[in-house]
Amino acid sequence: MSPNTYPSVNAERLWQRHMDMAKIGGTPGGGVHRLALTSEDIEAHVLLVQWAEARGFSVALDPMGNMFLRREGSDPSLPPVSSGSHTDTQPNGGRFDGITGVLTAFEALETINEAGIETRYPLEVAIWNNEEGARFTPACMGSAAYVGFTDLDDMLSRKDQQDTTMGTCVEELAKALPQAQPRDLGTPIAFFIESHIEQGVKLETSGNVIGAVTGMQGYRRFEIEVIGEDAHSGTTPRSRRKDAFVAATDMTRAMREVLWDDEDEMRYTIGRFDVLPGGVSVVPGQVNFYVDLRYHDKATLDRLADEIPEICKSHADPCEMRIVDTPSVDPMVFPEDVVTSIEAAAERHGYGHERMYSYAGHDARHVARICPAGMVFIPCWKGISHNEAERAEPEHVAAAAQVISDILIDRAAA
Ligand SMILES: [Zn+2]
Repeated sequence: MSPNTYPSVNAERLWQRHMDMAKIGGTPGGGVHRLALTSEDIEAHVLLVQWAEARGFSVALDPMGNMFLRREGSDPSLPPVSSGSHTDTQPNGGRFDGITGVLTAFEALETINEAGIETRYPLEVAIWNNEEGARFTPACMGSAAYVGFTDLDDMLSRKDQQDTTMGTCVEELAKALPQAQPRDLGTPIAFFIESHIEQGVKLETSGNVIGAVTGMQGYRRFEIEVIGEDAHSGTTPRSRRKDAFVAATDMTRAMREVLWDDEDEMRYTIGRFDVLPGGVSVVPGQVNFYVDLRYHDKATLDRLADEIPEICKSHADPCEMRIVDTPSVDPMVFPEDVVTSIEAAAERHGYGHERMYSYAGHDARHVARICPAGMVFIPCWKGISHNEAERAEPEHVAAAAQVISDILIDRAAA
Protein backbone atom coordinates (compact mmCIF):
# COMPACT_ATOMS: atom_id res chain seq x y z
CA MET A 1 0.00 0.00 0.00
CA SER A 2 1.13 3.54 -0.53
CA PRO A 3 2.02 5.36 2.71
CA ASN A 4 -1.15 7.43 2.95
CA THR A 5 -3.62 4.63 2.30
CA TYR A 6 -3.18 2.87 5.64
CA PRO A 7 -6.43 3.55 7.50
CA SER A 8 -6.24 5.43 10.81
CA VAL A 9 -7.26 3.69 13.99
CA ASN A 10 -9.99 5.17 16.17
CA ALA A 11 -8.16 6.38 19.28
CA GLU A 12 -11.31 7.34 21.18
CA ARG A 13 -12.98 3.99 20.64
CA LEU A 14 -9.81 2.18 21.68
CA TRP A 15 -9.53 4.20 24.90
CA GLN A 16 -13.20 3.67 25.68
CA ARG A 17 -12.71 -0.08 25.27
CA HIS A 18 -9.85 0.10 27.77
CA MET A 19 -12.09 1.91 30.24
CA ASP A 20 -14.93 -0.59 29.71
CA MET A 21 -12.56 -3.50 30.27
CA ALA A 22 -11.08 -1.86 33.38
CA LYS A 23 -14.50 -2.05 35.05
CA ILE A 24 -14.34 -5.84 34.98
CA GLY A 25 -12.42 -6.62 38.16
CA GLY A 26 -11.86 -2.90 38.76
CA THR A 27 -10.39 -2.10 42.20
CA PRO A 28 -11.12 0.91 44.44
CA GLY A 29 -7.50 2.00 43.90
CA GLY A 30 -8.06 2.38 40.15
CA GLY A 31 -6.45 -0.90 39.13
CA VAL A 32 -7.79 -4.24 37.94
CA HIS A 33 -7.89 -7.53 39.83
CA ARG A 34 -8.75 -10.12 37.20
CA LEU A 35 -6.93 -13.39 37.75
CA ALA A 36 -6.94 -16.01 35.00
CA LEU A 37 -10.34 -17.56 34.27
CA THR A 38 -12.03 -16.20 37.38
CA SER A 39 -15.61 -15.06 36.77
CA GLU A 40 -14.19 -11.59 36.02
CA ASP A 41 -11.75 -12.89 33.44
CA ILE A 42 -14.47 -14.99 31.81
CA GLU A 43 -16.68 -11.86 31.75
CA ALA A 44 -13.86 -10.04 29.92
CA HIS A 45 -13.76 -12.84 27.33
CA VAL A 46 -17.55 -12.67 26.89
CA LEU A 47 -17.43 -8.89 26.38
CA LEU A 48 -14.74 -9.29 23.71
CA VAL A 49 -16.89 -11.86 21.94
CA GLN A 50 -19.89 -9.50 22.02
CA TRP A 51 -17.77 -6.80 20.37
CA ALA A 52 -16.45 -9.32 17.86
CA GLU A 53 -19.86 -10.65 16.92
CA ALA A 54 -21.17 -7.12 16.41
CA ARG A 55 -18.49 -6.89 13.69
CA GLY A 56 -19.27 -10.29 12.23
CA PHE A 57 -16.02 -11.81 13.49
CA SER A 58 -16.08 -15.45 14.57
CA VAL A 59 -14.74 -16.97 17.78
CA ALA A 60 -12.77 -20.12 18.47
CA LEU A 61 -11.50 -21.75 21.67
CA ASP A 62 -8.76 -24.31 22.08
CA PRO A 63 -8.55 -26.97 24.83
CA MET A 64 -6.13 -24.77 26.82
CA GLY A 65 -8.61 -21.88 27.03
CA ASN A 66 -6.91 -19.70 24.43
CA MET A 67 -9.48 -17.66 22.49
CA PHE A 68 -9.30 -16.43 18.89
CA LEU A 69 -11.45 -13.74 17.26
CA ARG A 70 -11.32 -13.97 13.50
CA ARG A 71 -12.00 -11.79 10.48
CA GLU A 72 -12.01 -14.07 7.47
CA GLY A 73 -9.65 -13.53 4.55
CA SER A 74 -10.28 -14.21 0.89
CA ASP A 75 -8.42 -17.52 1.20
CA PRO A 76 -9.79 -19.26 4.33
CA SER A 77 -7.35 -22.13 3.88
CA LEU A 78 -4.45 -19.86 4.86
CA PRO A 79 -3.29 -19.66 8.50
CA PRO A 80 -4.20 -16.44 10.32
CA VAL A 81 -2.10 -13.32 10.63
CA SER A 82 -2.50 -12.66 14.32
CA SER A 83 -2.03 -10.16 17.12
CA GLY A 84 -3.01 -10.24 20.77
CA SER A 85 -1.94 -10.74 24.36
CA HIS A 86 -3.80 -11.58 27.58
CA THR A 87 -6.82 -10.45 29.62
CA ASP A 88 -5.65 -11.72 33.02
CA THR A 89 -3.86 -9.48 35.53
CA GLN A 90 -1.72 -9.81 38.61
CA PRO A 91 -3.52 -9.43 41.98
CA ASN A 92 -4.43 -5.72 42.24
CA GLY A 93 -2.78 -5.21 38.87
CA GLY A 94 -3.21 -2.44 36.34
CA ARG A 95 -5.49 -1.41 33.47
CA PHE A 96 -2.99 -1.97 30.66
CA ASP A 97 -0.71 -4.97 31.17
CA GLY A 98 -2.05 -7.54 28.74
CA ILE A 99 -5.36 -5.99 27.81
CA THR A 100 -3.65 -3.28 25.73
CA GLY A 101 -2.23 -6.00 23.48
CA VAL A 102 -5.70 -7.52 23.07
CA LEU A 103 -7.52 -4.23 22.49
CA THR A 104 -4.95 -2.78 20.06
CA ALA A 105 -5.25 -6.00 18.04
CA PHE A 106 -9.04 -5.73 18.13
CA GLU A 107 -8.90 -2.07 17.14
CA ALA A 108 -6.68 -3.02 14.20
CA LEU A 109 -9.24 -5.56 13.00
CA GLU A 110 -12.08 -3.06 13.42
CA THR A 111 -10.11 -0.40 11.54
CA ILE A 112 -9.31 -2.75 8.68
CA ASN A 113 -12.91 -3.91 8.60
CA GLU A 114 -14.33 -0.38 8.50
CA ALA A 115 -11.92 0.55 5.73
CA GLY A 116 -13.31 -2.36 3.73
CA ILE A 117 -9.86 -3.81 3.14
CA GLU A 118 -9.97 -7.36 1.91
CA THR A 119 -7.02 -9.43 3.09
CA ARG A 120 -5.90 -12.71 1.64
CA TYR A 121 -5.02 -14.20 5.01
CA PRO A 122 -7.55 -14.31 7.84
CA LEU A 123 -6.87 -11.82 10.63
CA GLU A 124 -7.11 -12.88 14.25
CA VAL A 125 -6.96 -11.51 17.76
CA ALA A 126 -5.39 -14.09 20.08
CA ILE A 127 -6.19 -14.03 23.81
CA TRP A 128 -3.65 -16.30 25.52
CA ASN A 129 -4.83 -17.90 28.72
CA ASN A 130 -3.10 -17.33 32.06
CA GLU A 131 -0.16 -15.22 31.01
CA GLU A 132 0.48 -13.86 34.49
CA GLY A 133 0.78 -17.17 36.30
CA ALA A 134 -0.67 -15.52 39.41
CA ARG A 135 -3.52 -17.99 39.99
CA PHE A 136 -2.01 -21.03 38.28
CA THR A 137 1.64 -21.66 37.52
CA PRO A 138 3.48 -21.50 35.20
CA ALA A 139 3.11 -18.09 33.58
CA CYS A 140 2.45 -17.90 29.81
CA MET A 141 0.61 -21.18 30.22
CA GLY A 142 -1.75 -20.77 27.26
CA SER A 143 0.80 -19.79 24.63
CA ALA A 144 3.34 -22.37 25.86
CA ALA A 145 0.81 -25.20 25.59
CA TYR A 146 -0.42 -23.96 22.20
CA VAL A 147 3.02 -24.32 20.65
CA GLY A 148 3.71 -27.65 22.38
CA PHE A 149 6.31 -26.28 24.78
CA THR A 150 4.34 -27.69 27.73
CA ASP A 151 1.97 -30.64 28.04
CA LEU A 152 -1.77 -29.91 27.89
CA ASP A 153 -2.88 -32.54 30.43
CA ASP A 154 -0.22 -31.40 32.88
CA MET A 155 -1.37 -27.77 32.50
CA LEU A 156 -5.07 -28.62 32.87
CA SER A 157 -4.32 -30.50 36.10
CA ARG A 158 -2.66 -27.46 37.71
CA LYS A 159 -4.58 -26.20 40.77
CA ASP A 160 -5.12 -22.79 42.32
CA GLN A 161 -5.00 -22.22 46.08
CA GLN A 162 -8.64 -23.37 46.40
CA ASP A 163 -7.79 -26.65 44.66
CA THR A 164 -9.75 -25.70 41.54
CA THR A 165 -8.06 -27.12 38.45
CA MET A 166 -7.29 -25.19 35.30
CA GLY A 167 -9.29 -27.86 33.45
CA THR A 168 -12.44 -26.95 35.39
CA CYS A 169 -11.89 -23.27 34.61
CA VAL A 170 -11.46 -23.93 30.89
CA GLU A 171 -14.78 -25.84 30.96
CA GLU A 172 -16.41 -22.79 32.61
CA LEU A 173 -15.05 -20.55 29.88
CA ALA A 174 -16.32 -22.90 27.17
CA LYS A 175 -19.78 -22.95 28.82
CA ALA A 176 -19.89 -19.15 28.76
CA LEU A 177 -19.08 -19.17 25.01
CA PRO A 178 -21.31 -21.83 23.43
CA GLN A 179 -20.87 -20.18 20.02
CA ALA A 180 -17.09 -20.77 19.99
CA GLN A 181 -15.72 -23.12 17.35
CA PRO A 182 -13.23 -25.72 18.61
CA ARG A 183 -9.60 -25.10 17.66
CA ASP A 184 -6.74 -27.59 17.98
CA LEU A 185 -3.62 -26.63 19.87
CA GLY A 186 -0.79 -25.92 17.47
CA THR A 187 -3.07 -24.91 14.59
CA PRO A 188 -0.66 -23.00 12.33
CA ILE A 189 -0.34 -19.22 12.64
CA ALA A 190 1.25 -17.28 9.76
CA PHE A 191 2.53 -14.36 11.84
CA PHE A 192 2.10 -12.95 15.35
CA ILE A 193 2.69 -9.52 16.81
CA GLU A 194 1.98 -8.41 20.38
CA SER A 195 1.81 -4.89 21.76
CA HIS A 196 2.44 -4.26 25.44
CA ILE A 197 3.32 -1.50 27.87
CA GLU A 198 7.09 -1.43 28.34
CA GLN A 199 6.99 -1.98 32.13
CA GLY A 200 10.28 -0.07 32.21
CA VAL A 201 11.38 3.56 31.79
CA LYS A 202 13.42 3.51 28.56
CA LEU A 203 10.70 5.02 26.36
CA GLU A 204 9.58 7.47 29.00
CA THR A 205 13.18 8.61 29.40
CA SER A 206 13.89 8.97 25.68
CA GLY A 207 10.51 10.45 24.82
CA ASN A 208 9.97 7.86 22.09
CA VAL A 209 6.53 6.34 21.61
CA ILE A 210 7.29 3.00 19.98
CA GLY A 211 9.75 0.38 21.13
CA ALA A 212 10.66 -2.07 18.37
CA VAL A 213 11.46 -5.12 20.47
CA THR A 214 14.44 -7.06 19.15
CA GLY A 215 14.31 -9.97 21.57
CA MET A 216 13.85 -11.13 25.10
CA GLN A 217 16.16 -11.82 27.96
CA GLY A 218 16.94 -15.37 28.88
CA TYR A 219 17.60 -16.51 32.42
CA ARG A 220 19.63 -18.98 34.42
CA ARG A 221 18.56 -19.93 37.93
CA PHE A 222 20.32 -21.70 40.77
CA GLU A 223 19.14 -23.14 44.08
CA ILE A 224 21.93 -23.02 46.64
CA GLU A 225 21.96 -24.79 49.95
CA VAL A 226 24.66 -23.86 52.48
CA ILE A 227 25.06 -26.35 55.32
CA GLY A 228 26.83 -25.30 58.50
CA GLU A 229 26.08 -26.17 62.10
CA ASP A 230 23.48 -24.77 64.52
CA ALA A 231 25.19 -23.43 67.63
CA HIS A 232 24.57 -21.24 70.69
CA SER A 233 25.10 -17.59 69.76
CA GLY A 234 26.51 -16.76 73.20
CA THR A 235 28.86 -19.62 73.85
CA THR A 236 30.27 -20.43 70.41
CA PRO A 237 33.38 -18.42 69.46
CA ARG A 238 33.92 -17.34 65.86
CA SER A 239 36.76 -19.84 65.39
CA ARG A 240 34.42 -22.75 66.10
CA ARG A 241 31.42 -21.59 64.13
CA LYS A 242 30.11 -23.03 60.92
CA ASP A 243 27.85 -20.08 60.24
CA ALA A 244 25.83 -20.71 57.08
CA PHE A 245 24.71 -17.06 56.94
CA VAL A 246 28.28 -15.77 56.84
CA ALA A 247 29.25 -18.22 54.08
CA ALA A 248 26.10 -17.48 52.06
CA THR A 249 26.53 -13.70 52.25
CA ASP A 250 30.20 -14.07 51.21
CA MET A 251 28.94 -15.98 48.16
CA THR A 252 26.33 -13.39 47.26
CA ARG A 253 28.84 -10.55 47.58
CA ALA A 254 31.42 -12.37 45.44
CA MET A 255 28.78 -13.04 42.78
CA ARG A 256 27.76 -9.41 42.77
CA GLU A 257 31.29 -8.40 41.87
CA VAL A 258 31.35 -10.74 38.87
CA LEU A 259 27.72 -10.50 37.66
CA TRP A 260 27.95 -6.85 36.77
CA ASP A 261 28.20 -4.78 33.59
CA ASP A 262 28.84 -1.14 32.76
CA GLU A 263 25.68 -0.89 30.65
CA ASP A 264 23.49 -1.95 33.59
CA GLU A 265 21.84 -4.63 31.47
CA MET A 266 22.76 -7.64 33.59
CA ARG A 267 20.05 -8.59 36.09
CA TYR A 268 21.35 -10.43 39.15
CA THR A 269 18.72 -11.10 41.81
CA ILE A 270 18.46 -13.05 45.01
CA GLY A 271 14.74 -12.89 45.67
CA ARG A 272 14.64 -15.54 48.33
CA PHE A 273 17.06 -16.15 51.17
CA ASP A 274 15.97 -18.45 54.01
CA VAL A 275 18.03 -18.53 57.21
CA LEU A 276 17.49 -21.67 59.32
CA PRO A 277 16.57 -22.60 61.94
CA GLY A 278 15.65 -18.92 62.35
CA GLY A 279 16.27 -18.42 66.07
CA VAL A 280 17.52 -15.03 67.23
CA SER A 281 20.11 -16.66 69.48
CA VAL A 282 21.12 -19.51 67.17
CA VAL A 283 24.10 -19.45 64.82
CA PRO A 284 22.33 -20.51 61.62
CA GLY A 285 23.19 -24.00 60.48
CA GLN A 286 21.59 -23.68 57.09
CA VAL A 287 20.80 -21.11 54.42
CA ASN A 288 18.84 -21.78 51.25
CA PHE A 289 18.88 -19.10 48.61
CA TYR A 290 18.02 -18.63 44.96
CA VAL A 291 19.91 -16.82 42.23
CA ASP A 292 18.07 -15.46 39.18
CA LEU A 293 20.39 -14.15 36.47
CA ARG A 294 19.03 -12.53 33.30
CA TYR A 295 20.69 -11.17 30.21
CA HIS A 296 19.90 -10.75 26.52
CA ASP A 297 22.99 -12.42 25.06
CA LYS A 298 23.17 -16.18 25.46
CA ALA A 299 26.97 -16.52 25.25
CA THR A 300 27.55 -13.91 27.96
CA LEU A 301 24.70 -15.21 30.10
CA ASP A 302 26.08 -18.75 29.98
CA ARG A 303 29.69 -17.71 30.51
CA LEU A 304 28.79 -15.77 33.65
CA ALA A 305 26.22 -18.24 34.97
CA ASP A 306 28.71 -21.07 34.56
CA GLU A 307 31.00 -19.27 37.01
CA ILE A 308 28.38 -19.26 39.77
CA PRO A 309 29.00 -22.79 41.14
CA GLU A 310 32.74 -22.15 41.41
CA ILE A 311 32.27 -18.77 43.08
CA CYS A 312 29.96 -20.32 45.65
CA LYS A 313 32.28 -23.26 46.30
CA SER A 314 35.24 -20.99 46.89
CA HIS A 315 33.34 -19.09 49.61
CA ALA A 316 31.70 -22.03 51.37
CA ASP A 317 34.41 -22.89 53.87
CA PRO A 318 33.91 -23.99 56.67
CA CYS A 319 30.40 -24.93 55.51
CA GLU A 320 29.31 -27.43 52.89
CA MET A 321 27.23 -26.42 49.95
CA ARG A 322 25.05 -27.89 47.25
CA ILE A 323 24.01 -26.07 44.11
CA VAL A 324 21.34 -27.01 41.59
CA ASP A 325 21.35 -25.47 38.12
CA THR A 326 17.56 -25.35 37.50
CA PRO A 327 15.92 -25.29 34.03
CA SER A 328 16.84 -22.14 32.15
CA VAL A 329 15.37 -20.14 29.30
CA ASP A 330 17.59 -18.97 26.45
CA PRO A 331 17.49 -15.37 25.28
CA MET A 332 15.51 -15.09 22.05
CA VAL A 333 15.71 -12.81 19.03
CA PHE A 334 12.77 -11.66 16.90
CA PRO A 335 13.30 -11.75 13.09
CA GLU A 336 14.98 -8.64 11.75
CA ASP A 337 12.30 -8.03 9.10
CA VAL A 338 9.63 -7.88 11.81
CA VAL A 339 11.64 -5.32 13.76
CA THR A 340 12.18 -3.19 10.65
CA SER A 341 8.47 -3.38 9.80
CA ILE A 342 7.68 -1.91 13.23
CA GLU A 343 10.20 0.87 12.64
CA ALA A 344 8.75 1.56 9.19
CA ALA A 345 5.20 1.81 10.55
CA ALA A 346 6.33 4.13 13.36
CA GLU A 347 8.23 6.27 10.85
CA ARG A 348 5.20 6.48 8.54
CA HIS A 349 3.08 8.00 11.30
CA GLY A 350 5.78 10.20 12.82
CA TYR A 351 6.14 8.27 16.09
CA GLY A 352 9.57 8.47 17.70
CA HIS A 353 10.94 4.95 17.98
CA GLU A 354 13.88 2.95 19.22
CA ARG A 355 15.01 -0.65 19.39
CA MET A 356 14.90 -2.36 22.75
CA TYR A 357 14.95 -5.70 24.52
CA SER A 358 12.13 -7.03 26.59
CA TYR A 359 13.17 -7.54 30.18
CA ALA A 360 10.00 -9.45 31.00
CA GLY A 361 8.54 -12.63 29.55
CA HIS A 362 5.56 -12.42 27.19
CA ASP A 363 3.40 -14.78 25.13
CA ALA A 364 5.23 -13.69 21.95
CA ARG A 365 8.27 -15.61 23.21
CA HIS A 366 6.36 -18.88 22.87
CA VAL A 367 4.43 -18.02 19.70
CA ALA A 368 7.76 -17.18 18.07
CA ARG A 369 8.54 -20.92 18.21
CA ILE A 370 6.00 -21.61 15.44
CA CYS A 371 5.92 -18.47 13.27
CA PRO A 372 7.66 -15.15 12.66
CA ALA A 373 6.75 -12.94 15.61
CA GLY A 374 7.50 -9.59 17.16
CA MET A 375 6.57 -7.12 19.87
CA VAL A 376 5.75 -3.42 20.06
CA PHE A 377 6.26 -1.54 23.33
CA ILE A 378 4.71 1.76 24.36
CA PRO A 379 5.64 3.97 27.34
CA CYS A 380 4.38 3.16 30.78
CA TRP A 381 4.28 5.85 33.47
CA LYS A 382 7.44 5.61 35.64
CA GLY A 383 7.78 2.00 34.52
CA ILE A 384 5.19 1.04 37.14
CA SER A 385 3.44 -2.24 36.34
CA HIS A 386 1.77 -5.13 38.18
CA ASN A 387 0.35 -2.32 40.27
CA GLU A 388 -2.93 -0.37 40.47
CA ALA A 389 -1.05 2.80 39.52
CA GLU A 390 -0.05 1.37 36.12
CA ARG A 391 -0.75 4.03 33.48
CA ALA A 392 -0.43 4.49 29.73
CA GLU A 393 -1.48 7.52 27.66
CA PRO A 394 -4.38 7.33 25.19
CA GLU A 395 -2.21 8.59 22.30
CA HIS A 396 0.45 5.96 23.01
CA VAL A 397 -2.09 3.15 23.09
CA ALA A 398 -3.45 4.45 19.77
CA ALA A 399 0.07 4.53 18.32
CA ALA A 400 0.51 0.86 19.19
CA ALA A 401 -2.81 0.01 17.51
CA GLN A 402 -1.79 2.01 14.42
CA VAL A 403 1.50 0.14 14.09
CA ILE A 404 -0.26 -3.20 14.60
CA SER A 405 -2.95 -2.31 12.05
CA ASP A 406 -0.38 -1.33 9.39
CA ILE A 407 1.64 -4.48 9.94
CA LEU A 408 -1.39 -6.78 9.87
CA ILE A 409 -2.48 -5.22 6.57
CA ASP A 410 0.95 -5.80 5.02
CA ARG A 411 1.32 -9.34 6.33
CA ALA A 412 -2.21 -10.41 5.44
CA ALA A 413 -2.36 -8.87 1.98
CA ALA A 414 0.54 -10.71 0.42
ZN1 LIG B 1 1.51 -8.79 30.24
